[in-house]
Amino acid sequence: MIDPLLDLTEEQRAIIETARAFGDEHLRPNAAAWDRDAHFEPSLVPALGELGFLGMLLPAEYDGLGLDARSYLLALEEIAAADASTAVMMSVHNSLPTQMLLTFGSAAQKQRYLAPMARGERLGAFALSEPDAGSDAASLRCQARRDGDHWILDGAKSWVTSGTHAGVILAMARTDTPDARKGAKGISAFIITPDLPGFSVGKKEDKMGMRASPTVQLVFDGMRVPADRLLGQEGMGFIYAMQSLEHGRLGIAAQAIGIARAAYEAACTYVTERKQFGKAIAEFQAVQFKLADMATRITAARSLLHMAAAAKDRGVEIGAQSSMAKLFASETAMWVTTQAVQLFGGYGYVKEYPVERYFRDAKVTEIYEGTSEVQRVVIGRAALSGL
Ligand SMILES: Cc1cc2nc3c(=O)[nH]c(=O)nc-3n(C[C@H](O)[C@H](O)[C@H](O)COP(=O)(O)OP(=O)(O)OC[C@H]3O[C@@H](n4cnc5c(N)ncnc54)[C@H](O)[C@@H]3O)c2cc1C
Repeated sequence: MIDPLLDLTEEQRAIIETARAFGDEHLRPNAAAWDRDAHFEPSLVPALGELGFLGMLLPAEYDGLGLDARSYLLALEEIAAADASTAVMMSVHNSLPTQMLLTFGSAAQKQRYLAPMARGERLGAFALSEPDAGSDAASLRCQARRDGDHWILDGAKSWVTSGTHAGVILAMARTDTPDARKGAKGISAFIITPDLPGFSVGKKEDKMGMRASPTVQLVFDGMRVPADRLLGQEGMGFIYAMQSLEHGRLGIAAQAIGIARAAYEAACTYVTERKQFGKAIAEFQAVQFKLADMATRITAARSLLHMAAAAKDRGVEIGAQSSMAKLFASETAMWVTTQAVQLFGGYGYVKEYPVERYFRDAKVTEIYEGTSEVQRVVIGRAALSGL
């Protein structure tokens, strides 16, 4: 249940209903099997495109819904409550590649890529991380060198969400030269499509959770990228990526809240059905206190997220607030799912019930798009500069 205190518009309520109905019909019944088989269901991409859920933040001229951040995050929470793997695909697509193109792309680039992305004809992915460049993403090594009217890219990107099925990948690579390194200012962003010569999909990760979301390495082996695929200005790619991650972190917070909510709702039902010592375990005050703490933390996480999103919708710089929302929501998801497993007892530890999946899915929200430690670094820095 979404908090009645959130003060939603009729349109936002309708979006929640649409997302919930989609989740009930297409996601919830399949989530356990997709998780077991690590199966990504490709038909979800056009289906979400049809609903407008892959262009939620894009203007109508690119076939988007032109919604505000809050509406998008409400939809994402609903989708995550039904299937977290689908939510991460949707979050990455809406928050990162489409936003990077919309904000920093040329008119021709936007014209060419955004509408097919909004319609679900081309799924988006974001390739910043590398095997040796994670939290310290600016140390990435993938190298681009100019060759006439092309760039030649060599290197490997790791952990690329949706990388197996992506039709547009925003990839960061170095455009400085080995003898004149410029740190973060030596990185540029490129629009990659899988048809480029020298592009291949490498190892698929066998993950603990989010198993229905494919996470892969991408290999660029002398990949020839037309010069007009450079996004914005040369040397600005890292800054573009960091600015987009500010949006992305709100998406991960919404996803974490959706997972926490699903675990909480499952626990509420279970404790009224499970009997021990001659009564429903819901009658034990220790159990009620757990539910109270779960509900309170979920509501607090959602409040923090919607405060940041509302500020973003008003055009206010949110900076550290985006990190706070992601940090708090992801730690809430991990804590709430742990409590849910506990409330299910032994049945929480087996695959017959969904809470063990929620628990596994929750963990990565503390890791991707910046670990909890990195969020604390951002927030700590802001605190010292007088937030
Ligand atoms: C399922 C999944 C999907 C992903 N999807 C994408 C994607 O689509 N695109 C993409 O580009 N990346 C993606 N990532 C990568 C993700 O963003 C990185 O895993 C993350 O940024 C952490 O990097 P790392 O794994 O190299 O860990 P490391 O950076 O090696 O960190 C290891 C540990 O050291 C800690 N640490 C590092 N630096 C500091 C510091 N300064 N202070 C305190 N502690 C520190 C970290 O917090 C962590 O606990 C994904 C990852 C996963 C697991």
